[in-house]
Amino acid sequence: MKKKQISALSLLLVLSLLLAACSSSKTDSSKETDSSKEADTPVTSPVSNSEEEAHWSYEGETGPEHWGDLDPANLACVNGTEQSPINIETTETEEKADPQELTINYVPTLFSLENNGHTIQANPAASDNSITLGNDTYHLAQLHFHTPSEHQLNGNSFDMELHLVHKNEKDELAVLGLMIKEGKENSILKEAWESMPKEQTTEDVQLKQQIDLTNILPKNQDSFRYNGSLTTPSCTEGVKWIVLEEPIEMSKEQIKRFQEIFPENNRPVQNLNDREIFKY
Ligand SMILES: [Zn+2]
Repeated sequence: MKKKQISALSLLLVLSLLLAACSSSKTDSSKETDSSKEADTPVTSPVSNSEEEAHWSYEGETGPEHWGDLDPANLACVNGTEQSPINIETTETEEKADPQELTINYVPTLFSLENNGHTIQANPAASDNSITLGNDTYHLAQLHFHTPSEHQLNGNSFDMELHLVHKNEKDELAVLGLMIKEGKENSILKEAWESMPKEQTTEDVQLKQQIDLTNILPKNQDSFRYNGSLTTPSCTEGVKWIVLEEPIEMSKEQIKRFQEIFPENNRPVQNLNDREIFKY
């Protein structure tokens, strides 16, 4: 009996902590003014302060224009000068005289899927997918999707965008961005698409078949490259962006299936400021 009561009590406590964490900081002032109330006030503040990240979204009060206010860790979202995504005016890009060669080394790999509340993310079971930029090797950490596309080409958005996030030994990021337009069914992503979790997951959904991402890439790998940021909070800068010019295709049904889970999960384009975009 006692155990049951305790677990019911702790469940209640957890629920109230969750509520406190999700609501805004409306209790801040009362904390300091009235110490006599301490006895009936559960110790919510240390827990809500240690929340990994503040709740953020793509609309309303927690939408992109407020990301910077939600958490001090998100300051780059408002103060940053090299933010992503951007609109790429293809006629205003610079041809690089000494191009840094991009090599994509993808191999058949098992993935698991998660719905993290912001997108569908696929996590590789092994770290043997990589890209090299010049002499630097970046290993694939995860891939995920946005709709509509985050980057624009000459002011035009695409139906979706795939981000392949890679990390080097120094934990620096290089993200390969692929535009997705409506067209043929994408058979490489068929099983993944049929397994997409509709609700936020606590445990990954394991896919049965390996995916060779080589087969997802467009034939033409001409790319635009620039220095940018994460497109989600914390908006951290220092991310090397490689956006392929040629889009890949997914069927109307596949695009719709994703949009039924996430109708809109794209950050608006950011100012280019004095950055250059290089064409490779
Ligand atoms: Zn992304």
